[in-house]
Amino acid sequence: MLDSKTHKAGIIGWPVGHSISPVMHAYWLKEHSLSGAYDALPVKPGGLPKMLELLAEQQYAGVNVTIPHKQSILPFLDEVDPSAAAVGAVNTLVRKNKKWLGMNTDIYGFSKSLTEAVDVKKIQRVMVLGAGGAAGAVVKSLQELGFTHITISNRTREKAEELASHAGAKVVDWENKDTALERINLLVNTTSRGMKGEGGLDINLNMLPSQAVVADIVYNPLVTPLLQQAQEKGHLTVDGLGMLMHQGAAAFAAWFGITPKVDDKLRAFLQETL
Ligand code: NAP
Repeated sequence: MLDSKTHKAGIIGWPVGHSISPVMHAYWLKEHSLSGAYDALPVKPGGLPKMLELLAEQQYAGVNVTIPHKQSILPFLDEVDPSAAAVGAVNTLVRKNKKWLGMNTDIYGFSKSLTEAVDVKKIQRVMVLGAGGAAGAVVKSLQELGFTHITISNRTREKAEELASHAGAKVVDWENKDTALERINLLVNTTSRGMKGEGGLDINLNMLPSQAVVADIVYNPLVTPLLQQAQEKGHLTVDGLGMLMHQGAAAFAAWFGITPKVDDKLRAFLQETL
């Protein structure tokens, strides 16, 4: 039976058409027989204050935030939770007591996806490729998991240095990343390379130890050229769909007080929509 309250959430970004979050949250709303909707809400740069007003008026429980607003929305929020503040980016807003609270569920999403797939106690040295918004959340999650040997490599070195300085991580030149793989146990791609419509990462995994795990946070396609290369070399791989599902589940719980299941049925359903 549907309950009487309307459960409203959505995603704000520019563009937002590519996001599979609306399909995922609609699945959970239906699974829990909750009336309401999760809307794709295109918001151009500059349109944030007006949109936040509108969302408050229309009694949204909250929204996800995606490119290009994850950082630029911070000045418009009443509170930001400590992990999101440390990363300097939010991906989820919750409306509570007439206030906007910012969170970053990508941090939890990556941790949960990684720890479900891998025994993290066996990993000492990690290399993160990329230093964009998502890299910040991934590095924070690695820190929260207790990793102390983190190396960051990014096409634009200054951005890697900036991220590394907050995380106590090392930086390797983009040109030298292949040779720096020599003692790495976990390699994580957080760049947008490998996404549908983009070329794959230019990387050679020959130096990566055979027991190393390779993770990619890109989820469309599910098996990126990096993961394909890693699988051909026999590495254990972790795709980006796990992170997507877990960050979404944490947001759903923050809005509606119900933690939805992340299971094989949901994974199969989402894979069909990709
Ligand atoms: P972003 O802030 O725009 O950062 C993009 C990153 O990719 C930067 O490090 C950039 O390097 C690098 N890059 C772009 N083109 C490149 C190229 N040709 N060669 C080498 N590096 C290149 O984007 P983001 O928000 O971090 O997102 C990155 C990816 O993560 C996207 O594909 C997104 O869909 C995915 N993501 C997945 C999840 C999930 O739940 N699975 C969550 C968040 C994001 P420069 O600094 O040199 O430009």
